[in-house]
Amino acid sequence: MRTNWARNQVFGATDVQRPHTISALQRTVKSATGIKVLGAGHSFSRIADTDGTHLILDHLPATVDIDTVAHTARVSAQTRYGQFALQIAAAGYAVPNMASLPHISVAGAVATGTHGSGMRIGNLATPVVAMTVVLASGDVQEWSAASHGEAFAGMVVHLGGLAVVTHVTMALVPAFEVRQDVYIDLPFESAMEHFSEIMGASYSVSLFTLWNEGVVDQIWRKSVAGEESPLPAEFYGARRADRPYHPIDTIDVAPCTEQLGVYGPWHARLPHFKMEFTASSGDELQTEYFLGHQDAVSALEALYLIRHLIAPLVLVCEIRTIARDNLWLSGQYQRDSVAIHFTWKNAWADVQRLLPVIESILAPYGVRPHWGKLFTMDPERVRATYPRMHDFQRLMGIYDPTEKLTNDYLTGLGITKL
Ligand SMILES: Cc1cc2nc3c(=O)[nH]c(=O)nc-3n(C[C@H](O)[C@H](O)[C@H](O)COP(=O)(O)OP(=O)(O)OC[C@H]3O[C@@H](n4cnc5c(N)ncnc54)[C@H](O)[C@@H]3O)c2cc1C
Repeated sequence: MRTNWARNQVFGATDVQRPHTISALQRTVKSATGIKVLGAGHSFSRIADTDGTHLILDHLPATVDIDTVAHTARVSAQTRYGQFALQIAAAGYAVPNMASLPHISVAGAVATGTHGSGMRIGNLATPVVAMTVVLASGDVQEWSAASHGEAFAGMVVHLGGLAVVTHVTMALVPAFEVRQDVYIDLPFESAMEHFSEIMGASYSVSLFTLWNEGVVDQIWRKSVAGEESPLPAEFYGARRADRPYHPIDTIDVAPCTEQLGVYGPWHARLPHFKMEFTASSGDELQTEYFLGHQDAVSALEALYLIRHLIAPLVLVCEIRTIARDNLWLSGQYQRDSVAIHFTWKNAWADVQRLLPVIESILAPYGVRPHWGKLFTMDPERVRATYPRMHDFQRLMGIYDPTEKLTNDYLTGLGITKL
């Protein structure tokens, strides 16, 4: 029985293929009737599922080719983000941000518009400048803005529904050092009154709350060397922590990246969790909604009123910011965003009952759900939050005319070829 990381989805694939070469991959894709790439399997939704062939690319050569003139790296799709980060860091480079966990694959992260936090930093798909793909026809193609013009913005966050990605090329920035400082017990009122100042105070800021009365439990500030003023002992009513914290304070801190203001390489501070601690599965579920930054305080105040419903089911809630982009299916499409994330106890029946309540409270803000996490929003409402959805569906018709790469997740959302 094959499952995703959290084991909340049992995959329906009848066949698994792990090609060793690109030409074998081409043959497999060409002859399949239904096919879907499985990345690291860290999505909580059914986005990576298929009732046809599951394609796992971990037997293809793992490569990271750095172009020191163009300042780009071309990485094989299945490479774990943390491995990719180590290799570009060794050459003096970085990408602007990472997700909380470095174990996800590069292509899987890009396909769903995975993100970290930072008011001036886009999601993990935004540094992508080109992709090499195998089309449903079995042909290899290079996709970039140079070759496909404006449509490239529709191809980067593709939900696994356009083609099989074999390589991703990303724009790099010079490597940088980051320190991580945790503050505890931020008064909820202060968090709401000074929301933008708090979230913008460092390169990357996350708030963690258990939705107890009157308090946001933790602030994680990730500050870039040379860019920050001295960090105070008190920050909008929160106290600087004098020991390391896990976002869920009752859990051992060993898997967490180093805190207490010690500078270290970007890839060892931007994720919350270390690459060397590998949890093979997680006893949790996740949900996340994106909304415009200007609506965040109002939305959080509205959720605060139902904290008695959220608190019993939530392991922790994280609030992050992400800069806007132009990628058609990105949760941050043309909207500077705040992400409200819930790590739930593994109790789907109860969570499934609560999600519609949360979603109706968030409805006035035009929220977009994270593609890789769990939600119950009406498919029409989801599609309506993406102004370029029809254009994406036209791309599906062009690149996957026989709907090989579609699955129940996409058809259930009404994201089918036009
Ligand atoms: C513990 C944990 C922490 C997380 N933290 C964050 C976070 O901080 N921020 C955030 O935004 N998300 C987060 N997520 C969600 C996660 O980043 C996304 O679900 C991401 O898509 C997972 O990547 P993956 O490699 O596991 O992809 P999968 O779940 O395996 O696949 C996702 C999609 O990508 C497609 N795909 C994968 N590879 C290819 C390819 N080569 N070609 C074509 N399509 C492909 C799949 O078919 C599928 O449609 C977290 C998840 C977990 C379990």
